[in-house]
Amino acid sequence: MRKTETLNIVLTTLLCITLCGSVEAQTKQGKQKAQKKEGYTNTPVIPGQKWKVHDADRPHPEIIKPGTASTESVAGKAPSDAVILFDGKNLDAWKGRKGDARWLLKGDHIQCKPGSGAISTRQQFGDCQLHIEWSSPTPVKGKSQGRGNSGVFLMGNYEVQVLDSYNNVTYADGQAGAIYGQTPPLVNASRKPGTWQMYDIIFKAPRFKDGKLVSPAYVTILHNGVLLHHHRALIGATTHKRVGTYKAHGPKGPIQLQDHGNAIRYRNIWVRELKGYDQK
Ligand code: MG
Repeated sequence: MRKTETLNIVLTTLLCITLCGSVEAQTKQGKQKAQKKEGYTNTPVIPGQKWKVHDADRPHPEIIKPGTASTESVAGKAPSDAVILFDGKNLDAWKGRKGDARWLLKGDHIQCKPGSGAISTRQQFGDCQLHIEWSSPTPVKGKSQGRGNSGVFLMGNYEVQVLDSYNNVTYADGQAGAIYGQTPPLVNASRKPGTWQMYDIIFKAPRFKDGKLVSPAYVTILHNGVLLHHHRALIGATTHKRVGTYKAHGPKGPIQLQDHGNAIRYRNIWVRELKGYDQK
C-alpha cells in the first residue's frame, strides 16, 4: 500500500467516527427533547388536589374529535368518544317494553308511534352528557299537555319534559325543558312546531348508600343552546300530581323516550359517559 492510500483510509475512518458520533449525539438529544415534559416541578401544590401548579407530570386530557352542528335539514355528527344512540341508521340501541322498539324509522329520524309505548336504551348510563334533537308534530293539534308531549327520562326515572311550548300555555313545571313537576325552565326557548330543536343535558346521577340518598341527581340543560337549568338538584323521581321522592337504585339506568300519544320525532341522539379529571 502506498503512503497516500494509507493516509486516505485513516482520514476516512476518522471522518466516519466523527460523523457517527455526531449522529448519535443528535439522536440522543432528540430523544431527550421528546422526553422533556412541559411544565414545572418546583411550584406549590394546588389546594384540594394532588397536583402542583403547572405540574409537568399531570396527565393530559384524552384527544377526541369534536362533532359537527346540525342544521334544519342535516343532522350533525357526534364527537368521536360518544356512544351513538341514533344516527339515522337503525333502532338497534333501543328496546320497547316488550322486545324491540316499535317506533318508526323514517330516514334521518325516528317517530313515536302513539300507543306503542316508551323506548329505552339497551345500554345503561349514569353520569352523562346527552345530546338529543326533537321536533313536535304539524299540523298542530290539541293544547297544553296534549300538544307534542314526550319526554327524555334519565335513568328511566327523571324526566326532562318534551312539549310543543311554542304559543302553547301549560303549567310552568310541565312546559318544554321543565324538570317535570319540579322546576320550570329559566326561559322558554322553544322553536315552532315542525322545526328541529335540541337538548344538551349534563346529568349527574343520584348517589345512594345502604338504601339512603347520599346526594341528589343534578341536571344542567341547554335548549337550542340556551341555558334552562344550571346544576339544578332534583327532588326525586318524576311523578304526576304528587311530590317526587327518591327510591334507591343502581349507579346506571336506561335513557327512555316517552310515548305520550303524540307523533314526536327524534334525531341525532348521542351520549358521553362522564369521567373524572386527570384520567390517564
Ligand atoms: Mg312528557
